[in-house]
Amino acid sequence: EDWQERGAAVGVKKEYDADGRVSIKPVKKGVKDFNFGRTLGEGSYSTVLAATDRSTGKDYAIKVLDKRHIIKEKKVKYVNIERDTLNRLTDHPGVVRLYYTFQDERSLYFVLDLCPGGELLGVLKRMSTFDEECTQFYGAQILDTIEYMHSRGVIHRDLKPENLLLDENKHIKVTDFGTAKLLPERKDMEGRVDFEPDATSDENRANSFVGTAEYVSPELLTDKNACKASDLWAFGCIIYQLLAGRPPFKASNDYQTFQKIVNLDYDFPRGFPDLARDLVERLLVLDPQRRLSLEHARNHPFFNGIQWGRGLWQQKAPRLK
Ligand code: ATP
Repeated sequence: EDWQERGAAVGVKKEYDADGRVSIKPVKKGVKDFNFGRTLGEGSYSTVLAATDRSTGKDYAIKVLDKRHIIKEKKVKYVNIERDTLNRLTDHPGVVRLYYTFQDERSLYFVLDLCPGGELLGVLKRMSTFDEECTQFYGAQILDTIEYMHSRGVIHRDLKPENLLLDENKHIKVTDFGTAKLLPERKDMEGRVDFEPDATSDENRANSFVGTAEYVSPELLTDKNACKASDLWAFGCIIYQLLAGRPPFKASNDYQTFQKIVNLDYDFPRGFPDLARDLVERLLVLDPQRRLSLEHARNHPFFNGIQWGRGLWQQKAPRLK
């Protein structure tokens, strides 16, 4: 595997040959180009460190993966999915951007956007619940990002507050694409790139469970099949959680959580705002075909007053309260 491919070489270096002629060479970044700082977090197969590019002074988060551990645990496939997905999602402010990948003998390195605000889950735990204004703003940023991912043929499959990071502006950045599903690329008659509709493709049916119990969609449990609508199920769970302080389906073990999901066994705490309740009820629909679509979610009255598109990302985040 070539870990330097696809946009990894950014920047140029001027060199002079023996005859004094200039040659411009692409610069490939490597470990020695960064100053490594504090540990931002640990995953099962990775450590994420803050780092600064020595030549530009720009800060990044670098995810360091131990090659031996990944091979031993048979996770090579997931690491490749994460890299391939991130390479498809490089032009939206709501996705953690991958700038470079490189490796040395021991490790693989992903150079990513730094998110100093940490996980949305951490913020939510500190605040216990979000008010309607914050839920509307963060909900809109999450939805706008889901729309972008789907338009690029990516189903995330594991959306949850741990995988939503906050950047220096306290804006959302979606991360953790190791379990994403990439819909195959195809070209239309004019040669424009497009993606297969996900409809009823069977390719992943045999797959074992992916995702996190509390946010997993009923179709994944019953048909072993995740589709774009599965991300909207998770989105419904997240909106509920921001306002209620806990996910809608939660039990003492995963099996019982699954029972609650397939029976749509949840209720709203007292004081849950009406418009948000209506939105959640239309998202938490067992039949993915009847679940609120992205388009309809965007136009739901809960998001009245939201400026979609660029403006949403230029706006100041509401003070968390
Ligand atoms: P697992 O692999 O076990 O599912 P994970 O997906 O959280 O865990 P990582 O993606 O390696 O594993 O992330 C480890 C920790 O580092 C997380 O807690 C996350 O909050 C933090 N982190 C990840 N990416 C960034 C980033 N770009 N900026 C700041 N912190 C990050």
